[in-house]
Amino acid sequence: MPEARNEPKFECECCGLCCRRDPYYAVSLLDIRNISMGLGLRPEEFFRQYCDVVTTPGGFRYSVILAPDGCPFLKNALCGIHLVKPIGCWVFPESSLLPVRDLKKHVNAIPTCAILKMPDVDLPLAADLELLAARDIQFEHTKQYFAQHDSFEERPWREATDRLAEKLRDAAEITRRAEAIRARAEALTSR
Ligand code: SF4
Ligand code: SF4
Repeated sequence: MPEARNEPKFECECCGLCCRRDPYYAVSLLDIRNISMGLGLRPEEFFRQYCDVVTTPGGFRYSVILAPDGCPFLKNALCGIHLVKPIGCWVFPESSLLPVRDLKKHVNAIPTCAILKMPDVDLPLAADLELLAARDIQFEHTKQYFAQHDSFEERPWREATDRLAEKLRDAAEITRRAEAIRARAEALTSR
């Protein structure tokens, strides 16, 4: 977001509730690589122990960390895999792009979230637009991959993840997408 708009910065208070409220948490193809390396597991071991492919409410298949009792990596209300946590966790809650006033209505189900203490402003949270652009690319590739593959298989996953990593090195594409995200956020603010 441009600094001139003075978007408020979100300060997470680490209550941990957003890591306990969902039955699963999305992991991209690249997240699977990063987390398995961080845990010192082979990718298929990590996938077998912690993950599955689900059909999301949006009707597409996606890889997830299963969390029947909260995310298995949540330790004492903190993320136990912080440095390699999934891209979706890095961009929450800034990724919504909604003005804070509206976003607060959407997080009512998380009564302890620090966002509820923020002033009702008509600007979105300050966000790293390039990170959001990278999130979108990871999301699209992962969704496409699991539209074509029933489950996790190391060889095709590795090839697809290499292609994804290559795409993420395309600086012009990241910039183009970041600008589109900025325009989307501005449109949501001016509704
Ligand atoms: S990976 Fe970390 S940040 Fe993401 S849901 Fe699990 S504990 Fe929370
Ligand atoms: S619910 Fe909000 S304050 Fe609590 S850990 Fe999640 S983002 Fe941070």
